[in-house]
Amino acid sequence: MDRPLVIAGPCSAESESQVLETARGLKPLGVGVFRAGLWKPRTHPGGFEGVGEKGLSWLARVREETGMKTATEVAGAKHVEVCLESGAVDILWIGARTTSSPFLVQEIAEALQGTNIPVFVKNPLSPDMDLWSGALERLSGVGSLGLIHRGFTPSGSSPWRNDPLWRIAIEMRTRFPGMPFLVDPSHIGGDRRFVGELSQKALDLGFDGLMIEAHCNPSEALSDAAQQLSPSQLGEILSSLRLRRQDSDDAAYREVIDSLRARIDDIDESLLALLADRQAVSREIGRYKKEHGIAIVQAARWDEVMTSVLERAEALGLPADTVRRIFTAIHAASVRSQE
Ligand code: PEP
Ligand code: MN
Repeated sequence: MDRPLVIAGPCSAESESQVLETARGLKPLGVGVFRAGLWKPRTHPGGFEGVGEKGLSWLARVREETGMKTATEVAGAKHVEVCLESGAVDILWIGARTTSSPFLVQEIAEALQGTNIPVFVKNPLSPDMDLWSGALERLSGVGSLGLIHRGFTPSGSSPWRNDPLWRIAIEMRTRFPGMPFLVDPSHIGGDRRFVGELSQKALDLGFDGLMIEAHCNPSEALSDAAQQLSPSQLGEILSSLRLRRQDSDDAAYREVIDSLRARIDDIDESLLALLADRQAVSREIGRYKKEHGIAIVQAARWDEVMTSVLERAEALGLPADTVRRIFTAIHAASVRSQE
């Protein structure tokens, strides 16, 4: 991969000097875009709610002094209007709380009509791919769009502030091919100690870049203090990242990868043939149950099937949660084919 796009800067703009000092520390690290939140949607009222419009001129100064592009979060039409009017912001992003609300996304889309400013859309708080896709659909036709994966509110105890559920982000990449797709390790990890490993994971999975929170004095930050890095800490992480290329022309590499891919294609074909056989049998069962006036689903039978499938999966060294998801989908399709 070429150098990943890195967007970095404080969770919140707090003062002109904090914004400029942070930007001056980030510029030499190769950070392309400076981020700072002006309006902060906090979980609890009464926290620091952001400096608002007055921070726009600080962003303009960052661009003028460092040449970095500037980015901020918009949570409604008013924010979009003042950002566009000021000319101080090059890139907008929509935060997780806002993506969760189609009303707000719609009003933002309307405020953006006829402009071509790039907009990144963070995932919604819940792992709902359709809500995320719907937000991108509402914004289609507006400038250029990108995605940011910042993890999902954990459903149980989790080592992460926000659960990465990488498979959802990977599926979204296939739904929106060609759109720049970044990962925000700061909001996934919730702790500066995790930012390095999560950034590496994002690059290993082929994401296009990172959005990382950095602050000139992280422990004094007015929001998200635990997860922000000083510019020098961020520099260490960025220089330790191993980049993987998307592809290679090397003949030996090509020979091995092509033969492995041929094996995978062959296995996929067998899997499809087995699924077709399974579907035929399942339809026959459906007809037979109908003739005898028997209900389509017998919960006890399905529990037995799942239990024995999971036992076999364990013996074969397959991950239980993946196998459970695959068989749940197969079962759902089978029930549909009997209706
Ligand atoms: C942020 O980027 O500071 C922010 C509020 O992020 P999120 O919308 O991912 O919670
Ligand atoms: Mn933050």
